[in-house]
Amino acid sequence: MSSAATMIDIPLMTTAEYQAKLEQCIHCGMCLEACPTYPVFGTEMDSPRGRIALMRGVAEGEIPADDPTFKTHIDRCLGCLACEPACPSGVDYRVLIEGARQTVEQHRTPGPIERLVRWIGLRQLMPHLGRLRLMAALMLLYQWSGAQFVVRRLGVLPPTLAAMEAILPPLTPHRRDDRKPFPARGQRRGRVAFLRGCIQEAFLGQANDATIRVLQRNGYEVLVPQLQTCCGAAQIHAGDEHAAKALARANIDAFLALDVDAVICNAGGCGMVLKDYGHLLHDDANYRARAHMFSSTVQDVTEFLAAHLHTPPTGSLPLRVTYVDSCHLRNGQRVVNQPRALLRAIPGLELIELAHADRCCGSAGTYNITQPSTANTLLADKTADILATGADAVAVTNTGCHLQVIAGLRQAKPNLPVLHIVELLDRAYATTEPKVRR
Ligand code: SF4
Ligand code: SF4
Repeated sequence: MSSAATMIDIPLMTTAEYQAKLEQCIHCGMCLEACPTYPVFGTEMDSPRGRIALMRGVAEGEIPADDPTFKTHIDRCLGCLACEPACPSGVDYRVLIEGARQTVEQHRTPGPIERLVRWIGLRQLMPHLGRLRLMAALMLLYQWSGAQFVVRRLGVLPPTLAAMEAILPPLTPHRRDDRKPFPARGQRRGRVAFLRGCIQEAFLGQANDATIRVLQRNGYEVLVPQLQTCCGAAQIHAGDEHAAKALARANIDAFLALDVDAVICNAGGCGMVLKDYGHLLHDDANYRARAHMFSSTVQDVTEFLAAHLHTPPTGSLPLRVTYVDSCHLRNGQRVVNQPRALLRAIPGLELIELAHADRCCGSAGTYNITQPSTANTLLADKTADILATGADAVAVTNTGCHLQVIAGLRQAKPNLPVLHIVELLDRAYATTEPKVRR
């Protein structure tokens, strides 16, 4: 394939900005140890350095953009960004992998089943919370009726659906009316807006309830804009930038209309994307500046609370807890110490650090659905590390990790609680304070 033809086929990868980012790699190999897929596959092409070499080959026209080898090794990347903090040259791997994924997407033709599943999941479900809530209610019925037990015993689902079903957490009925603001409790410190997320709200709504209560207890009025939607992370992960941009514009409109001190997010993967709307919409003249303005107000709930824990919990929670870092919080947002500081602020709680804390659990957006074999290998390692701590509970800070860790413990230790950090804080408050009422 000629270089000129490639220029037409892969506009993103041939931009001067993208090529300059590729040039930043000095091939030192310092990132190899940090990469979770390198030991799984044992090949250079499944390391950050190898993938960058492939990207450079495509960007320079040496490798066709539809080369199956390129696709295979890009698809195997988790996007966990563990390579970024390990890199002495400051390679912006995140932008590189996003460009490579878009290129892969543009040069393949998914089959009709995959197109249907993606259309339903990414376009018809995730952006519509009402539909997701209905789906959660149906899944609750599926679990309570015993159908789940039968389906899992028989193993009748096709692979993609089986991978999705495997991460369905035990559900309980959940409903919250968040159309009116939740008032600050005690001394008023300010007002924040909360991004409740899509999967998080429908399937792990208790973590969102706890987030709101903990913010209230620290003096913040909490607004939940009703016009907010899915953040677009899964769409970006799947290479569907068009859908992600539409969601970003909707969220910017919904949140910038409010007068708040911060936009709070409690899922590491969503927060990373929200903080990067400026980059996502850099070619949209109408939204570029507003996107940067919006992103500058976004904070992970652990980041915000670590700086604004005006009323620390006084109730004791005598638990040994281990913490599973969210890669997108740790590597993408560089929020590492704040979650740990919050756990240590809970009286009676002992934090036990996990071995290989910087290793991905295999969730990685939609990776556990698209690459279930590798994801399960990584999950088995993470589960073994969790069990080795002897902890009484597992703390998490991201929706995907939350679902993945529950799935990993299902066989080994199903009663080990997996909780968002704010749920642990909420429990500590609840031991000494009356229940929060709206
Ligand atoms: S994002 Fe993660 S899986 Fe991909 S190359 Fe970097 S460290 Fe490896
Ligand atoms: S550490 Fe950075 S510069 Fe070195 S090979 Fe990896 S990506 Fe390239």
